[in-house]
Amino acid sequence: MPAKIIDGQMVAKRIRGEIGAAVDDYSKTTGSMPGLGVVLVGDDPASAMYVRMKRRACERAGIRSEARILPAASTQRAVEDAVRGFNEDPAIHGILVQLPLPDHIDEEAVLSQISLAKDVDGIHPINIGRLGMRGREPSFTPATPTGVMLLIDETGLPVEGAQAVVIGRSNIVGLPVALMLTNANATVTICHSRTRDLPAVVKRADIVVAAVGRAEFVKGDWLRAGATVIDVGSNSVPDATSEKGYRYVGDVEFDSARQVAGHITKVPGGVGPMTITMLLANTLTAAQRIAVID
Ligand code: NAP
Repeated sequence: MPAKIIDGQMVAKRIRGEIGAAVDDYSKTTGSMPGLGVVLVGDDPASAMYVRMKRRACERAGIRSEARILPAASTQRAVEDAVRGFNEDPAIHGILVQLPLPDHIDEEAVLSQISLAKDVDGIHPINIGRLGMRGREPSFTPATPTGVMLLIDETGLPVEGAQAVVIGRSNIVGLPVALMLTNANATVTICHSRTRDLPAVVKRADIVVAAVGRAEFVKGDWLRAGATVIDVGSNSVPDATSEKGYRYVGDVEFDSARQVAGHITKVPGGVGPMTITMLLANTLTAAQRIAVID
């Protein structure tokens, strides 16, 4: 029997409905809107598109968004000043630095400037450190990995005790997903470009999270029957039948994987819609926490 589809679009829509209602309550109680500040450096078209998508999603949710768009040649100081400006702005409750930053900018130094209370992307080195340490709580968890965990929850299957394989170890996806799965008591294997016999490692997994950045890389015959497969990948491939001339596919070969997996996400319509939704949820939480403190 083909795998059940975990519908990220539907889950995201449900959560955005809840966020919309909570934002209304927040605005009625405080007379103001939750606010997200975005720092974008340079003119990378993909980054600019992500920032536009985040702005539109904020508008629809009743969240104010403000972007500081800086030229690619900006100094370290100018980028850090943009972050510090948002730290000091009482109308901004959450801060997102759009990555990647240009090569000459020290990313860690910039991210370290984000106030922990406003780190709605959970990317401050202290928050990532807390995520990895027992008995510590980050102020926020990163958006895409949090979305991945919610999609796994949708299956209703236990994560505790499960064998999980995460393919990819990036700071923004693979590593934090692996830490969150560990915190949920899965037994986690992290794979990367030097992993030997990846198909054999993947075969052991009850849960597979693919965050590789290679189109249709994970094949159906790598999977254990009934596995839960979360495809984070978003790769554009040429497609003469599409108006744009390209389409997006994941890191998993969907057609073959669907025949073996128990549950699987699609691309598009899986992890993607969850990422922005988690950012909205964290921005609302940041605003609610500050309102309670006030
Ligand atoms: P990344 O920084 O390029 O990391 C890719 C990871 O995959 C690295 O750890 C790399 O290993 C590993 N890898 C590369 N080739 C491999 C191979 N042949 N075998 C095993 N592992 C291999 O990418 P990322 O930022 O994590 O993004 C991953 C994918 O997710 C991309 O398609 C991206 O577009 C997508 N993404 C989607 C969302 C969303 O909201 N849907 C958000 C973020 C990212 P090494 O560490 O050894 O180099």
